[in-house]
Amino acid sequence: MGRLLIVLLVVVLIWFLFFRKKKVKNNINKNIESFDMIECQICKNFVSQDEAIFSNGRWYCSKECLINKG
Ligand SMILES: [Zn+2]
Repeated sequence: MGRLLIVLLVVVLIWFLFFRKKKVKNNINKNIESFDMIECQICKNFVSQDEAIFSNGRWYCSKECLINKG
């Protein structure tokens, strides 16, 4: 009986972890959508933080805008 209980507990734990991971992933995606958009200092376009370039305390949408600023 002891073994069966442990196996059941492990199965339940894995099941919970799987569903928790899904929920956390969704939350992370929501956060990225809500505050990871950055305004380019040159052309005023909004780009995601992944695409944006940070230089001298300012954000740029692309290398072109970074070069234009000097
Ligand atoms: Zn730009």
